[in-house]
Amino acid sequence: MGVRGQVSRLVMKFGGTSVADLERIRRVARLVNAEVQAGHSVAVVVSAMSGKTNELVAWTDGSGAAAQGLAPSDDEYDVVVASGEQVTAGLLAMALRNIGVAARSWLGWQIPIIADDAHGRARIDEVPPDKLAAAMDAGEVAVIAGFQGVTRDGRIATLGRGGSDTSAVAIAAAVKAIRCDIYTDVDGVYTTDPRIEAKARRLSKISYEEMLEMASLGAKVLQTRSVELAMAQGVPLRVLSSFIEPGDDTANAGTIVCDEEEIMEKRIVSGVAYSRDEAKISLFGLPDHPGVSSEIFGRLADANVNVDMIVQSHARTADTANMEFTVGKRDAARTVEIVRAAQKEIGFDDVAVNEDVAKVSVIGVGMRSHTGVAKTMFGALAEKGVNIQVISTSEIKISVLIDAAYTELAVRALHAAYGLDQL
Ligand code: ADP
Ligand code: ASP
Ligand code: MG
Repeated sequence: MGVRGQVSRLVMKFGGTSVADLERIRRVARLVNAEVQAGHSVAVVVSAMSGKTNELVAWTDGSGAAAQGLAPSDDEYDVVVASGEQVTAGLLAMALRNIGVAARSWLGWQIPIIADDAHGRARIDEVPPDKLAAAMDAGEVAVIAGFQGVTRDGRIATLGRGGSDTSAVAIAAAVKAIRCDIYTDVDGVYTTDPRIEAKARRLSKISYEEMLEMASLGAKVLQTRSVELAMAQGVPLRVLSSFIEPGDDTANAGTIVCDEEEIMEKRIVSGVAYSRDEAKISLFGLPDHPGVSSEIFGRLADANVNVDMIVQSHARTADTANMEFTVGKRDAARTVEIVRAAQKEIGFDDVAVNEDVAKVSVIGVGMRSHTGVAKTMFGALAEKGVNIQVISTSEIKISVLIDAAYTELAVRALHAAYGLDQL
């Protein structure tokens, strides 16, 4: 029981490495049991065992399926890839029962987690809380298959890679949980990906806004949409390690994602993120007159291609310009097709695509009130001989596009330049 005798509901989410085998699933069961014993009504959201979703995707995506003679199919892709989470939900419910904790599994359609029909990247529309909350409050742990929802016409839809985070936050919002704990293979959100910079430090707190930028700029620790949802719904989020035993609280303080006002320690830059998911498209010899950008980006928008960074420059010859922009790697070929098909209308000489690029970004709310952040960034990259191809900024981030071969070098140089290295 929580404050004034009300039940305090808690959502716990475990990622792929945390449920990778039965031994780990048993440990997860112990962690869940500890929260039940502490008096919480618990819902647990699980991912598929690590590697499983990739394996399923390989059966269904364009290349793999085409090689086996199957035409790709968005709605059936979801039926296949959502299956990994069904397995772990059942296994965890069994592991909980084995240690005397009442539990049952829930698939997306059984709750239901209602999603739109954008298969493969669906968004959650609604989670009616009544059935789930009643089961939780009756003392039965709800073990929920993450990553999946059901469309209004009864089809399975998945929420995009990393989508179990979003399942967990949506459920936490729906049942008005006191917190959503995201258990993963690192013990919190770090100043940068600890896999590429050993000197990265765990942040004890990070604001929703910074976390949103970090996630959308490549830090895979939380799915972007989950942070967006947590921010919009005011769900307190905590990121922590699942590789601990119950009761090990001080060793596992994790990172709290919260409102900016709750953070005492003020930093100019909180983190460095990187992404290798974009490709650079260059258009040469564009006519330099009004309406050209609208012609290009209008066509891409109509085809649902997301454009990220954009830079335009004058070419040496009079009245022509060059333009460079980035799109997701998976949209690169389609983008080239679209602009080529309109070469006459747009009027350009040539188009090139470069997939060997990486976007490296520094993020921090302190940028709003401090100058010199860009200068430090460009200085640090110049010192390492890293050439900047495209730059983009927002109020709280600066991103540069560089040669992918220099990703690690650039991340480490920036991490040091902003004083983020471990002391
Ligand atoms: P899960 O399977 O639990 O969802 P993910 O692999 O999706 O785990 O996310 C955890 C991983 O995110 C970490 O292993 C880490 O390499 C990576 N990561 C990237 N950037 C960061 C960061 N800034 N802080 C912590 N982890 C990060
Ligand atoms: N299993 C899914 C994936 O690998 C969802 C998740 O892990 O959050 O993307
Ligand atoms: Mg994840």
